[in-house]
Amino acid sequence: MIVAPAQRPATLLARKNILVVEDEEDILELVEYNLAKNGFRVSAVSSGEAALRAIQSDPPDLVLLDLMLPGVDGLEVCKLLKSDSRTAKIPVVMLTAKGEESDIITGLELGADDYIAKPFSPKVLIARVRTVLRRRTADAPEEGSIIRIHDLYIHPGRHEVLVADRPVELTFTEFRILHLLARRPGWVFTRSQIVDSVRGVDYPVTDRAVDVHIVGLRKKLGQSGGYIETVRGVGYRLKE
Ligand code: CA
Repeated sequence: MIVAPAQRPATLLARKNILVVEDEEDILELVEYNLAKNGFRVSAVSSGEAALRAIQSDPPDLVLLDLMLPGVDGLEVCKLLKSDSRTAKIPVVMLTAKGEESDIITGLELGADDYIAKPFSPKVLIARVRTVLRRRTADAPEEGSIIRIHDLYIHPGRHEVLVADRPVELTFTEFRILHLLARRPGWVFTRSQIVDSVRGVDYPVTDRAVDVHIVGLRKKLGQSGGYIETVRGVGYRLKE
């Protein structure tokens, strides 16, 4: 049986140090066990204060951060990390509960890289952690560089989009939204992050208008419009 190719990413990312911040013991144990089993170095704390201390004394490669913590909560930890230049680059993946959509949005806007909704399967957990770590090593392409993904070809300089080699006419705003999503496939953008990146181009863009532009964009992209995924209650992303 040949298993080597599937295991290669695991060995490459092994020995990365993950800090888990979680006050629920069952979840903490599950997360620790699965990370360790997959070759990660794991340290664990159960409060926001302890997380901040641990990060200062031994900066991890990634933080898995529960949002509902006693004392300093997850959002506050995220905010402090992202506003300090020494820790701003450490990826943060939030562990979230049902009904925390507005906190997820706040967290993403504070700079968290992704989130995992509880209850989650160990497989999903490991996959997300790997994806975020991989993204860090391969940063987003330069603003002006050509992007090829799925059957899309995006030429920012010429404002040109081809779908399966056929040109598609997009409005300026639709183009900007597609370009934003396509530069970071798999990355969730909230509506207001999308607004911020396209604002003032042709007219003021609102959260609601983002939804309308997405509808237009999907329609024009035809079959490939399906690559733009709605992340319920949170925003949009381009499928990886
Ligand atoms: Ca909690």
